[in-house]
This record gives sequence, structure tokens and C-alpha cells, in this order.
Amino acid sequence: MPDNRSSRNTSQNRTSRTDSPKRSTDAQKAAAARRARAKKKKQLIRRRRILAVLSVLFVFALILCGAYAVKKSKSKQIEYKPSDMVSSSSEMSSQQTEKDTSPSVSESDKETPSKEAESVKPTVTATAKPLTGSFYDGITYRSPKAQPADIFKHGRNLMLLNNDYELPEDFKWDLVYWSNGQSVDAMSLNSSKYDSVKAVDRAAYTPLKNLFKAASDAGVPLQLVSAYRSPDLQDRLFTRSVNSYISQGYSKQEAIKKANYARTFSGTSEHNTGLGFDILQQGNFTLSESFENTAQFKWLSEHAEEYGFILRYRKDKTTQTGIMYEPWHFRYVGVEHAKKINELDMCLEEYIAYLES
Ligand SMILES: [Zn+2]
Repeated sequence: MPDNRSSRNTSQNRTSRTDSPKRSTDAQKAAAARRARAKKKKQLIRRRRILAVLSVLFVFALILCGAYAVKKSKSKQIEYKPSDMVSSSSEMSSQQTEKDTSPSVSESDKETPSKEAESVKPTVTATAKPLTGSFYDGITYRSPKAQPADIFKHGRNLMLLNNDYELPEDFKWDLVYWSNGQSVDAMSLNSSKYDSVKAVDRAAYTPLKNLFKAASDAGVPLQLVSAYRSPDLQDRLFTRSVNSYISQGYSKQEAIKKANYARTFSGTSEHNTGLGFDILQQGNFTLSESFENTAQFKWLSEHAEEYGFILRYRKDKTTQTGIMYEPWHFRYVGVEHAKKINELDMCLEEYIAYLES
């Protein structure tokens, strides 16, 4: 019996011995399967994560592209909106800047708003581009006598531009933004980045600010209607004058002559330098001779020289300047020269000749 039991036990033991490796193999297989499943699951999760990250990146890129596109289209609207045309009562009262020939501005300059009222804005320094190209008919009107001259002979503040002297093509502007919140080039035909820049020559910036402050303190608040204009803008304005006279029945030659009395050729305007300014009483955008009857004009006649400005195109000097009487156009020459010019009762042309005599 014990033998039998023993033999049964032995047989059971044998059976369990032979079963054990089999079960262990199954367990191993199951574990391997589990591991494989877990691995697969992990891979799946990893793939999903990567996909999610890629999706987020893609959406982010889409948003960026969208934002860029909106910004670009907005800036285009700003560049070309015709709403800057505030007044058309006088064709002389409009300024505009040709985008293609304006001096280039760095990205940071472009973004500069005119909010920081008291600070001098970044310099815009650029080389004058060739004075070619016209907005309307492909013709750039040039003065028959105009020639590049040594316009710095008597210092930058005394540079003389008129029908005899034009801005050299390698002229370097040194402009700063006029930022008292007034719209200098608000009356543009085709607005471009320079319409909102409102640039004036660096040397004239502080004197002009002081002039405006003193006028305001004296109860005769002024408005800067026009400051810097690109030579190409000057050409467009000149061309518009010519076309206007032609449409009134004048021959082209007559039209050019008439236009030239009210307006200088491209590259011969003081506005091209940033040293010439059209100034009116606040709220007025019309450049008219009637400005001479205002308290502002009276005050300017007495005090502009104290800040370095002269009335550039006087009523009694049209023969010498070649330009009609413009009670609104003031030119920065510096205090010393301004006082001397008025004391000598001269226009700038006469004063330059006087210095050279
Ligand atoms: Zn002017």
C-alpha cells in the first residue's frame, strides 16, 4: 500500500514536475504578450502625443500666418487709404509721399507711433535716390537751370534750394519725427509710411518745438501743415499743378511756367530738405494769402527769428525768389542768420549773395 501510495505520489510528483515547465512557458508567453501589448500601447500613446504636439504646432503656425497676413493687409490699407485727403481747397495744401522713392526706414522706425510726444524720434538717414519717375505721366519736371551745387557752402542751415539749385543726388537726410500729435502730412493724396512719420530736419526740431510752445503760450496756437516731402512727392505735386493748368486750357509750356511760380520742381523745394515748414493757425489746413491777416502771422512776423526762422517767400521779394508770396512758409536758418537776414531786409537768395560778396 505504502508502495502504491508512494508510487502514486511519485507518479503525481512526476506529473507535477512535467507540468511545471509547461506552465512556466505559458506564463512567460503571457508575460511576453502583456509586455508586447504594453509596448504597443506605449508606442501608441507616444505616437498620439507626437501627433498632438504636431497639431498644436501646426495650429500655432496657422495662427501666426493669419496674424501676419492681417497685419500686412492692414499696413497696405494704411499705405494707400485715400482718407488722408483732408482738404482740397488748395492744391498747394496737399502733401504726399511717394513710397518707392522715400528714404528707407528700418523696421523699428516704421513701427514708431507718434505717442511719445516729448521725445525726439529715431533718425531717418538715407541717401537721396535719383530724382526720376513721375506719378502721373512718366515725366519728371526739372528746372531747366537747376544744377547740383555745393549747397553746404555756408553750412547746412543755410542750404539754398530754388530753381537754380537742386538737392544733390547723394544728399543725406537727417530727419527726426515731429511728434506733437499734429498731422504734418495729413492731406496726402496717396498715403504712405511717410505720411504718418512727419519728419523734420534734426537741426530744426527743437527750435520748431520751442516756436510752437511760445506761440501757444502767447495765445496764438500754430499748426504744422507740411514739413519734409520726398523729391518724388514734390514731382507728383508739380505734375498735378501742370495737369491742372493744362485742363484749364493752357499750353504745356505755359502750364509748367505757371506751376513753377507756385511750386518748385522736384529736388528744388525746401520741403525736400526738412528745413522748410508750412505753418498755419490751429485748425486751418488751407494755404491762403489770407493767413497774413491772422494773429498767428503777426506773432510769427515778430518772433519767428528768435527761434531761427524766416519768412521765406516774401511779398516784396518774388522777383528774387521766383516764388509767389507765401505767408505760411517759414524756413529754419538758425537764430543768428534769421536775425541778420531780417535786419538786412533780405531774402535768402540775397543773403547768400551778400555772404559771398
Ligand atoms: Zn511750403
